[in-house]
Amino acid sequence: MLTAHLIALDPNDFQATYLSKSCGVSRFAYNWALAEWQKQFEAHKNDPEKPKPTEGALRRLLNSIKREQFPWMLEVTKNAPQMAVIQLGKAFKNFFSGRAKYPKFRKKGLHDRFTLTNDQFKVEGFYISIPHLGKVRMREMLRFAGKILSATISRVADRWFVSIAVETPDAPKQKNNFMHQNIVGVDLGLSAMATLSTGEKIQGPKPYKTLLTRLKRLSKEFSRKIKGSKNRVKAKTKLARLHARISRIRLDSIHKFTTKLIARFDTICIEDLNVIAMAKNRRLARSISDMGFHEIRRQLEYKAERNGNMLIKADRFFPSSKQCSHCGHILEDLALSVRQWDCPICSSAHDRDINAARNLALYAASSAVKACGGSGSGQTDVLFGETAPKKQEVNINVYT
Ligand SMILES: [Zn+2]
Repeated sequence: MLTAHLIALDPNDFQATYLSKSCGVSRFAYNWALAEWQKQFEAHKNDPEKPKPTEGALRRLLNSIKREQFPWMLEVTKNAPQMAVIQLGKAFKNFFSGRAKYPKFRKKGLHDRFTLTNDQFKVEGFYISIPHLGKVRMREMLRFAGKILSATISRVADRWFVSIAVETPDAPKQKNNFMHQNIVGVDLGLSAMATLSTGEKIQGPKPYKTLLTRLKRLSKEFSRKIKGSKNRVKAKTKLARLHARISRIRLDSIHKFTTKLIARFDTICIEDLNVIAMAKNRRLARSISDMGFHEIRRQLEYKAERNGNMLIKADRFFPSSKQCSHCGHILEDLALSVRQWDCPICSSAHDRDINAARNLALYAASSAVKACGGSGSGQTDVLFGETAPKKQEVNINVYT
C-alpha cells in the first residue's frame, strides 16, 4: 500500500531560498498550463480540427519554450515545472471522472509546494539530498521501509516539510481470527478526546482553548491594519504561523493517540457517529473540530489496515450512551448535559462516556462472536479494566 510520511525540514538560508524558488516555478508552471489548457480547449470548441489539450502535449510545449521565455525556470530542478503539469493533468482526470472540482489556479502562500521524482533525491538518515542543493536536514528519519516513489516539499506558514511517498509491503494478514484478542471500545468525546472501555480518559490538547486568546488578538490586530500596508503583511504572517502551530499540535496529539491504541489493542470499536449533524450544534462545533473526529477515524482506519488490526464501526443508531452496559436496559432519553447516571433497573452507577465505550466493546465482541459462527467458545476479552462500575475515573495522559 501507499504510505506518505510527513517530516519537518530544517533548511539553511541558501536551501530555503532554493526551495522557495522551486515552489514559485512549480506554481507558475501549473498556472501557465491551466491557462493554456483553457485556451486550447476553447480553440478546440470553435474548431474541432484543433486538438484537445493534453498533459503530455502541454509538458512538451513548456519544455520547448522555457529556455526562451522563462529562463529562470532553469535555476531549479526540472521536476518543479514538469511535475506541476503532470499534477494538472491528474486534476483534470479527477475532474472528468467526477471525483473533484474543476482545477483552480494555485495561489502564492497557499499552494507552496513542488514534487520530486525518486531519481531526483535520496534519503539518508536524517537528510534528504537533492542535486544542486545538497543535504537538507530532516527532523526525523523516514519511518517506512519500501520503495520510495516521490517527495513533495511544501511550506506551511514559515515552516518547510517533506512528504515522502513509500510503497510499503501489503498489510499483514489479520492478526487474529477473533479468538484470543483484546477488544477495546472507544467513545470519541467532547469533555475528553476519547474514553476507553478500560475506564481511561484521554485528554487531548485543546489547542484553541489555550491559544484562542492569542488567536483572537492577532485576528483583531490583522483586521485593523490598513490594506496593502507592510504591517498588514506582517500581521498576516503572524496569524498564519499561529494557525499552522495549532494544527500541528492537534495532528501530533491525534497521531500519538491512534498509534498507541493500535499497538495496545487488536480490535477497536468506534461509533460511526454523525459528526456533521453534531457539528451543526454551534456550542459543540468548536470542540468537535478541535478534536478532529474525522482525523481520528481516518488515522485509525489506515493504521488498522497497515498493522492488521480490526476496526469495527458501530451503527450510528446503536444506543451506546443510553444503554446500561451492565444489564442492557435502554433509557428513553439521556440529555447531553448528563455526565453521570444510575441505571434504574440494576442501579449501576455510570459515567456517561465510560459506559458508552463499554457498550462499543460489547458491540465489537458480539460482532466477533457472530463472525465466528456464534459458538462463543473462543476467548474474547472485552477490556473493562477493573469491573467496578463505580464513579472512578482514571486519567491517563498519553502524551507523556
Ligand atoms: Zn442496568
